[in-house]
Amino acid sequence: MTFDPCKICRGCPYIPICGGGCRMAAYLKKGDFQDIACEREYLEKAAPEIVKYEYLAG
Ligand code: SF4
Repeated sequence: MTFDPCKICRGCPYIPICGGGCRMAAYLKKGDFQDIACEREYLEKAAPEIVKYEYLAG
């Protein structure tokens, strides 16, 4: 609840939808609930498709 992605992910355009990623993934990958679980590469590929889907879904 105290994790603040704005400090670590400064400038990332995906903060509103990612928020630093899953806390459990951060713990499993890095052993720290307070670290990020970055999926930016995935988001950069998926975001344009999500926008198109939402636009077409009306
Ligand atoms: S994509 Fe990576 S840098 Fe961007 S908000 Fe998520 S964890 Fe942070």
